[in-house]
Amino acid sequence: MINKAPISPDGQPLFNYYQDCSLARMINFLNEAVLVINKEGRIEIVNSLAATLLGVDREFPITQNLSAFVNDASGSASAFIKTCLSGDKHEPLSSPPVEMSLRRDDGSLVSVEMSISTLPAELTFTDTLYICILHDLTLHKAEYGSLKRKANTDFLTGLANRHHFADYLGQQWDKCERENLPISVIFIDIDHFKNFNDQFGHIAGDRCLKRIGETISLSLPNRDTLAARYGGEEFALVLPNCTAQTAQLLAIRIKRHISQLSTRQFMAEQASQLTVSMGVATHIDGRYLSSEGLVNAADTLLYQAKSQGRDQICYL
Ligand code: GH3
Ligand code: MG
Ligand code: MG
Repeated sequence: MINKAPISPDGQPLFNYYQDCSLARMINFLNEAVLVINKEGRIEIVNSLAATLLGVDREFPITQNLSAFVNDASGSASAFIKTCLSGDKHEPLSSPPVEMSLRRDDGSLVSVEMSISTLPAELTFTDTLYICILHDLTLHKAEYGSLKRKANTDFLTGLANRHHFADYLGQQWDKCERENLPISVIFIDIDHFKNFNDQFGHIAGDRCLKRIGETISLSLPNRDTLAARYGGEEFALVLPNCTAQTAQLLAIRIKRHISQLSTRQFMAEQASQLTVSMGVATHIDGRYLSSEGLVNAADTLLYQAKSQGRDQICYL
C-alpha cells in the first residue's frame, strides 16, 4: 500500500513521488522493462530495464508522457495507449501486447511489444495507475529477419529458392491481374549437366551453378525481377510488368552471358562450352487461367528447346 502522496499547492499529487515507493522498489526487481503511468499517460515510475530501454536516467525525474516516446506514423500505437487509459477505472484492464516502435531519448528507434494493465486499487491511491510492460523485440526481429532470409534463399547460389519463387509469382500474378499488366516467366536449364559433373566432378559442378546464378543475377533488368534456383541445375525468373518481347530480349542476353563463361573458371581441367536451354512464356489478355498455367507453359517451352536439340530459346 502506498501512503498518500504529498500534494502540490494546486491540489495535485507531487510529480515523481512514486519513484521511491515500495511499488517502485518491487518493479525494479522484475526482469522486464516496466513503467507505471497515470491516466494521462505521464510516466510516474520507471524501472531500471525500462530506463535503459528508453535511454533515460532512472534517478532523474521523468517529465515526459509515454506518448512522447512513441514513433507512430500511422497513429495506431497512440490510439492503443489512449484506449487503454480511457477505460472505466473500476474495470480492470489487461491489454494483449501490441507491437510498436519507440524513439529513445537519443533519437534511436527500438521495436517493442507493449501491454498495459490497471494496477490494483490497493497499490495506488486517489489516481488510477497503469502498469506498462515493454518487451524489447530487437533480438527477435534480427533473428526473424535472418531466418526469413534463409527460408527464402538457395544456399548454394544465394538466389531465391523455389518456395520464394512460388510466393513471389503468386503475389505478382495477382498484382498484374489487378493492374492489367503482362507478366513473364523464364525457365533456364543447363544442357548435359550430368556430363559436366561426370567429367569435372561435383565440386566444379557446384562452382559452375554458383557462377551461372551470379551471371543471371547480374543480367536482371530491375529490382522487380526475381531470379530463383528452381531445382538442381534449373533456374527460373519472374518478370512482372514485362512483355513477351522484353522477356525474349532478356533471355537472349542471359544466354549470351552464360555462353561467355569458360569452364576453366570452375577449376575444370579442360575448357569446354556451357550451354543452356530456355523457355519463355508471357501472360497477357487472359492467356492463362492461373500462375500455374504460366509456369507450365514456360516449362513446356523449355522441354521443347531440349527436344529440338538444346542450346536454344523457345518463346510463346
Ligand atoms: P539436359 O540437357 O537434358 O538437361 O541434361 P542434364 O544432364 O543437364 O539433365 P539431368 O536431369 O539428366 O541431370 C541433371 C544433373 O544436374 C544431374 C545432377 O548431378 C546435376 N545436379 C543437380 N543438382 C546439382 C548440384 O547441386 N550440384 C551439382 N554439382 N550438380 C547438380
Ligand atoms: Mg539440364
Ligand atoms: Mg533439369
